[in-house]
Amino acid sequence: MREPGFQTPSVIELSFDAIQHNLRFIKKFVKKHVRISSVIKGNAYGHGIEIYVPAAEQCGIDHFAVFSADEAQRVVKVKKPETDVMIMGWISPSHMSWVLDNNIQFWVFETERLEYALKLAHSKQIKAQIHMEMETGMNRTGLNHADLEVVWPLLETYRDSFNLVGVCTHLAGAESIANHVRIQRQIKRFRVMVNLFRSRSYEPDVLHVASSAATMAYPAFQYDMVRVGILQYGYWPSKETFIHYISRRKDKLDPLRRIISWRSCVMAVKFVKQGEFVSYGTTYLATDDKTIAIIPTGYSHGYSRSLSNSGRVLIGGQRVAVIGMINMNMLIADITSLDEVNIGDEVTLIGNQQDISISVASFSELSDQLNYELLTRLPAGIARRLTS
Ligand SMILES: *Cc1c(COP(=O)(O)O)cnc(C)c1O
Repeated sequence: MREPGFQTPSVIELSFDAIQHNLRFIKKFVKKHVRISSVIKGNAYGHGIEIYVPAAEQCGIDHFAVFSADEAQRVVKVKKPETDVMIMGWISPSHMSWVLDNNIQFWVFETERLEYALKLAHSKQIKAQIHMEMETGMNRTGLNHADLEVVWPLLETYRDSFNLVGVCTHLAGAESIANHVRIQRQIKRFRVMVNLFRSRSYEPDVLHVASSAATMAYPAFQYDMVRVGILQYGYWPSKETFIHYISRRKDKLDPLRRIISWRSCVMAVKFVKQGEFVSYGTTYLATDDKTIAIIPTGYSHGYSRSLSNSGRVLIGGQRVAVIGMINMNMLIADITSLDEVNIGDEVTLIGNQQDISISVASFSELSDQLNYELLTRLPAGIARRLTS
């Protein structure tokens, strides 16, 4: 029996070279003075916060954006002391004290949180590191003009209890040109609201609005900082953003590299006679004698059930078909065309084997999921490791 090189049923590998390559590309693309905030919500888009953060720091990243305080706590455990962390979404009231004590930057999008945070910071005699999120047309979170009337007296009362780190907003769909008019209107409203702060002598350290799509498609909206998520992992926010980028280039090559590979191994090999069914039910009938490999990865590990009878995996440097229903912990591949397959042989679910690959994109097309969704659904429980 061959030792697959990992003890868990599968392993997710992150390529340091690819991380470095992507971050270099992003750095080169954004304007000189623009800071990059690396967005690592959703467990670093499924890549794993604990592995991704130190690797990105090694490539010069010193600002990370998360959705919630529990994610921020995971970042704080592994980051360098001087690296900044910003919470863009949920903070439970019981977490606010930790957020303030640890100098965590956070978004304010309703006045209750602002008042609560400022009072707490005042009682601690420290400063809350706040980013004011403006409602400019996405109609999700953000302060509108009526809210600002409540904000001004609060800021005045607690003048010494905060740093206005940022004023920001989020654009509703910069990955599609169809939203162009809506985006332009959002920026217009954003400018008006920023001026309201300035007219009251509140000068934010940074203005920021751009995620990956706006960073690439609307360079004028990079302002002082960009919040880059999906790009750094090697994926474009949409086909449109990619086409928009390469249409202006001579080489037409994708400048990004995928970071993630997902590997499992062969757990058992067996022969199935013509006329037999494979796996649960009768969805797969062996029309010939078949050799099959059983692989210890199923839908509980994030391998979508919708890939039943349609997925592909790599074994022995060849692409082979997933047959039958995906089980909770196992899937089955048709290896009839392969010469020799042994227990313990590597199986690539996502990534390369020699010169062929299973991309997350093809995987998500087959399983009808967005890259974003597929990546973030990779369970945190799968072992992760950094490779070169
Ligand atoms: C997720 C998120 C981003 C990053 O989006 P990408 O498309 O992955 O670059 C930026 N800003 C906010 C507010 C987000 O929630």
